[in-house]
Amino acid sequence: MKHTCPVCGYPDLRDAPRSKRSGGSYEICPSCGFQFGVTDDDQGLSYEQWRETWREGGMKWSSEQTKPANWNPAAQFARIAGAKKKKR
Ligand SMILES: [Zn+2]
Repeated sequence: MKHTCPVCGYPDLRDAPRSKRSGGSYEICPSCGFQFGVTDDDQGLSYEQWRETWREGGMKWSSEQTKPANWNPAAQFARIAGAKKKKR
């Protein structure tokens, strides 16, 4: 099962970013570079802060893994940003 990055909307995370039992997954999102359990817990950055920084930096692919051919950062960003707005 794939999981969506709550920071940038990347839809193919291997693990759930956080679980109640074990906290952060320590997976690094290959899209925005956020590491769950480290960037948030250890560095104290919120998803929103990291999302803004990533967007301002031009939404770059942050991993050494090959970028998916159909990767569309603006589209995934719009999905996650839109989803957050609706909840409020
Ligand atoms: Zn991400």
